[in-house]
Amino acid sequence: MKSTTLPGPKAKKVIERDSAVLSSSYPRGSAFVMDHGRGSEVWDVDGNRYIDFASGIAVCSTGHCHPKVVEAIKKQTDSFLHISSDFYHPIWVDLAERIAGIAPFKEPAKVFISNSGTESIETAIKLARWRTGRQQFIGFYGAFHGRTMGSLAFTASKPVYRHGFLPLMGGVTHVPFPNPYRPILHSEDQRYGEAVVRFIEETVFAQVLPAEDCAGILVEPIQGEGGYVVPSDDFFPALRKLCDKYGILLISDEVQSGVGRTGKWWAIENWGVEPDIICSAKGLGSGLPIGATIARESVMQWPRGAHGNTFGGNPIACAAALTTLDLIENEMMQNAAEMGEYTLDALAEIQARHSTIGDVRGKGLMIGIEFVKDRESRIPAHDQRDQIEELAFQNGLLVLGCGKSTIRISPPLNIDKKLIDEGLGILEAAIQESEH
Ligand code: PLP
Repeated sequence: MKSTTLPGPKAKKVIERDSAVLSSSYPRGSAFVMDHGRGSEVWDVDGNRYIDFASGIAVCSTGHCHPKVVEAIKKQTDSFLHISSDFYHPIWVDLAERIAGIAPFKEPAKVFISNSGTESIETAIKLARWRTGRQQFIGFYGAFHGRTMGSLAFTASKPVYRHGFLPLMGGVTHVPFPNPYRPILHSEDQRYGEAVVRFIEETVFAQVLPAEDCAGILVEPIQGEGGYVVPSDDFFPALRKLCDKYGILLISDEVQSGVGRTGKWWAIENWGVEPDIICSAKGLGSGLPIGATIARESVMQWPRGAHGNTFGGNPIACAAALTTLDLIENEMMQNAAEMGEYTLDALAEIQARHSTIGDVRGKGLMIGIEFVKDRESRIPAHDQRDQIEELAFQNGLLVLGCGKSTIRISPPLNIDKKLIDEGLGILEAAIQESEH
């Protein structure tokens, strides 16, 4: 670390200029002002080095500036930068074929390419309405699906996202997410996932939302912004059965959890369940903006002109995504699974030393550490979590909060043990200090 107090002088100046001219609505976390990054390390404009456990909200999947991704981008910039979706180009088809090849469906897949997570959700919403001829949906408390009027209608993790923006798209009924650490629905037999699915069928369908009007159920396999919440194992098989029974499309929002982050291409594969539609973005382009909505061929049947965009299929983003998928398949998915296990084991030891850690959970490199006032009451320790985030930043580690009192660990998928150890060391020191 170069500056003794952070942000350093150059960073301070950028932040001052930023607040004068950029929208005040951006959430912002720590006062990190990026200069450059390599792998799982980043440097700020004052020359301070940080380990990156956040990877730009789980975006820099192959690490910062992976040489092969940079090379693919540079190569494409020499040919052309844009042509629009009114025409065709090969690398767009290459990417769609590649994505279709890793889709977790028994039947062939079709792909719509966009520029962000929220657009991949909007596409899924429209497709589900079109395909089923139904208008209604089910979403989950704690969910985050984006900030445009359709995806925002499902987002239910914090009131700030909705306050002042109502009414949103109509037709979304929210139900509890099966969070085993914080069950909302009492479940005597402990099969909490099935309890939630029973609630949908026996209460929601029976009392407010006729099943035959329900087009789709939109769900994150592991809730991201809502707290890195892993559902109980019985949930997805039961949800799939419910969808089959009533002809409802199961839409898996893999914007944060997909593209190898959990050690599988798609997080829902951890439960052996096949969705009907997958939404992807974030890690797909290693930092270049790209989204994808992937559906079973029999589902993505809509007429020419029904849905499109100007920038979708941008050749530079496609080039970055193609190389990203190769790297993840050949080098990083296995690493994500192994480093995830390694990190969870290390965190179990850290948890044993700190009573304010209520819960540690995750799959692959999508790991949440939830802080509580005490383990009996499980009252969320919101301020302590924020303090830990800031202390970590002051000592050279970037982490992001999520949920009420959780810290997320979502580093690049090629991070090694040495950097994980160093990062966890900084994190534990921050936890220790926050407990005094
Ligand atoms: N879905 C999930 C699960 C997300 O985590 C996010 C973003 O954090 C989105 C959708 C929205 O993505 P974007 O910010 O690219 O619109």
